[in-house]
Amino acid sequence: SGVKVVICGGGNGAHVAAGLAALNGADVRMMSTFSDEAERISAALAANNGLLRVTYTDAGTTKELDAKLSVVTKDPAVAGKDVDLILLVVPAFAHAGYLRALLPNITPGTVICGMPGSPGFPFEVDGILGPELSAQVTLMDWATLPWACRLLEFGRHVEVLGTKESMRGSVRLGTVPSRVDPVPCLQSLLGQRPVLNASGHILGITLGSVNQIVHLAVMYGQWYNWDGKGLPESPLFYQGINEETGSLLNSMSAEICALAKKISDTQGVDLKSVLHIYDWYMDCYGKDISDKSTLATSMRTNASYRGLRHPTVVGEDGLHRPNYGYRYMTEDVPFGLVITKGIAEIFQLPTPNIDRVLAWSQKQMGKEFVRESAGGRVCGSDIGMTRAPQRYGLTTVEQVLGVPKQ
Ligand code: NAD
Repeated sequence: SGVKVVICGGGNGAHVAAGLAALNGADVRMMSTFSDEAERISAALAANNGLLRVTYTDAGTTKELDAKLSVVTKDPAVAGKDVDLILLVVPAFAHAGYLRALLPNITPGTVICGMPGSPGFPFEVDGILGPELSAQVTLMDWATLPWACRLLEFGRHVEVLGTKESMRGSVRLGTVPSRVDPVPCLQSLLGQRPVLNASGHILGITLGSVNQIVHLAVMYGQWYNWDGKGLPESPLFYQGINEETGSLLNSMSAEICALAKKISDTQGVDLKSVLHIYDWYMDCYGKDISDKSTLATSMRTNASYRGLRHPTVVGEDGLHRPNYGYRYMTEDVPFGLVITKGIAEIFQLPTPNIDRVLAWSQKQMGKEFVRESAGGRVCGSDIGMTRAPQRYGLTTVEQVLGVPKQ
């Protein structure tokens, strides 16, 4: 009965996705391969008559919903039996583990969905499935998680604080028809909102990712000429940016737009979803921004960014120093900017501003993704921990555009 869905993950988003999909009639198998998470969720559910509570606040109204999942398991054979739709709701670094675990259950016609997919999602799927199977499955890549949400009690109670109005994504249809119509199916599992808005080539979601440029440009702008002295407080992240950082971010975004244009013009694919960062801000935050004169003023006066500070570590002297181990670096470099650089390399488009920020970032992280002695190509000794196309041996235009060609 119902669409057979595997929800991969055991965090905030996975609990919400599992609860809502079950409430909307799906046969939900929640799968977590992480530590003893599946056992802990099962035990928590068992102590609660098998019900997962979702507190759902939307438009000022709060509802308490109780969902019944089919199974919570660590075992891919149990979760993946005859699966129609695999929904990955974990940080990008955890995708590969789930894809490898579920590989024996992925068949022609399976739908694989990243929510969020995060940059490099299609390369990772193609790399792990191989060209033949990869062409036969359908991919959905979404730019974000649909909700602001948090666990109140692990395995038992999750709260949705807000739901996005709409969510941008892309679908790559397989050569074998999927058993469910991907977008309407996902929409029915999530409910009325967010309104799913899928368009264009699947690479648009990778190239259009904003975190990879925003977080890194702001980190670079704040710290590239730092004198090494601790600060009494952590600087404001967005409200603290100056025109120079705004201008750098502008240029990085322009390089990505130029790349998208080159790919669309030469390959005839639709990458209209790749927006310039200024236009993206106006689209997403227009009503929250009080001074739109430049990119920097728009970011500084974005009400929803108020008070956010730089990730720092506090030393024994009580002073703040930058934390380069935070996800703004550990995610947005290997699961972000390195991938975009890898695509630019294959399309032979120079990206001097992205290169500058990447060179600095990898140095702070103590990693080598791009190799300076090889002209800054994506062939450093640490590319194995990225989702750059080069990591999967995808080095031609055809391979990067994916199978089947859209
Ligand atoms: P989360 O932090 O709750 O996810 C943690 C889960 O990831 C763990 O429960 C586990 O299942 C898995 N995991 C963690 N470490 C792992 C490891 N080493 N190996 C395997 N699995 C591991 O994440 P979330 O809040 O559900 O968010 C999911 C994604 O959506 C993230 O990329 C997040 O940045 C993004 N996001 C979250 C929110 C939100 O409100 N929670 C909002 C917007 C975007």
